[in-house]
Amino acid sequence: MRDDKAVLVTYNLTRTYGAVKALDNVTLTVHKGDIYGLVGRNGAGKTTLLRLISGQSIPTSGDLELFGTAGHGAFKHRNRTGVIIETPSFYPYLTARENLEYYRMQRGLPGKGLVEEALERVHLEDTGKKKFKSFSLGMKQRLGLALALMNRPDFLLLDEPINGLDPEGVAEFRTLMKELNRDHGTTILISSHILTELASIATSYGFLDQGKLLEEITAEALHEKCRTCLLASVDNAPKAATILETALDTNSYDVLPGNVLQIYAFLDAPQKVSAALSQGGVALYSLEQKGMDLENYFLQLIGGEQHV
Ligand code: ATP
Repeated sequence: MRDDKAVLVTYNLTRTYGAVKALDNVTLTVHKGDIYGLVGRNGAGKTTLLRLISGQSIPTSGDLELFGTAGHGAFKHRNRTGVIIETPSFYPYLTARENLEYYRMQRGLPGKGLVEEALERVHLEDTGKKKFKSFSLGMKQRLGLALALMNRPDFLLLDEPINGLDPEGVAEFRTLMKELNRDHGTTILISSHILTELASIATSYGFLDQGKLLEEITAEALHEKCRTCLLASVDNAPKAATILETALDTNSYDVLPGNVLQIYAFLDAPQKVSAALSQGGVALYSLEQKGMDLENYFLQLIGGEQHV
């Protein structure tokens, strides 16, 4: 589904609140057809970024381009976006249909069919007379999604939509994301503080920490990176890193805390690594091959120095 055309590009996007840099020079690209996972711990700046994209807040500096248009021109494309940043409030004693109908009229969206279409897209068309107050959390979240879909957006922005859902609700939500993306070509930017929640659906990732974009990577490249690596425990990591770059001519490694190097090259020839390190005067305490799960990748990205 991914297309090289960019739906969103941000250029050095920065937002400060007093002394806090909620977003610090973030430059990222969401391509048409992407399900882009924005991953960061609480307070990393995810909501701030989504607010800037949706026009709910303005950048302190930097710029963003929506559907190829930058600056104030980007605003004219906002009606092509659907947004859920905070859980929308629905009337407890109204049904799903009545709640959506209320919002449709309030927003001046033409055509009653939009309500039915949105309900179908989130599989809530058969909820009949059931009132919102009796919905499960998963159904409530899906109704929120239906509301964001009512204007038939090309680009959907979702802030932590999976938060608090039980495993069944998470699975339902993932399926919906895939259907929207595959069947309706919707590009989706979805934030989460749990990388593995997005693992089976995201096509690209942006990792945010303390307002900074640490890495932007396609799902394919991420899975490749996590596949296997050599973990080298040494007495002097900076010296070992220099040896990797000079004697072994690779910069495909990360330095982790505790004088550990994670090396993505020479997986089939670890003896070359041990020989080069010992020739260079580095004590090698252990060298093992291991695969890494996605959550650990993220944690190490936040904690370690990045070199790849
Ligand atoms: P969470 O999942 O906890 O919402 P987040 O990644 O969405 O985390 P943000 O809500 O974007 O993070 O917050 C980033 C930083 O900016 C935090 O330090 C937060 O306290 C600060 N911040 C966000 N909005 C405001 C505001 N309106 N006024 C002051 N500080 C703010």
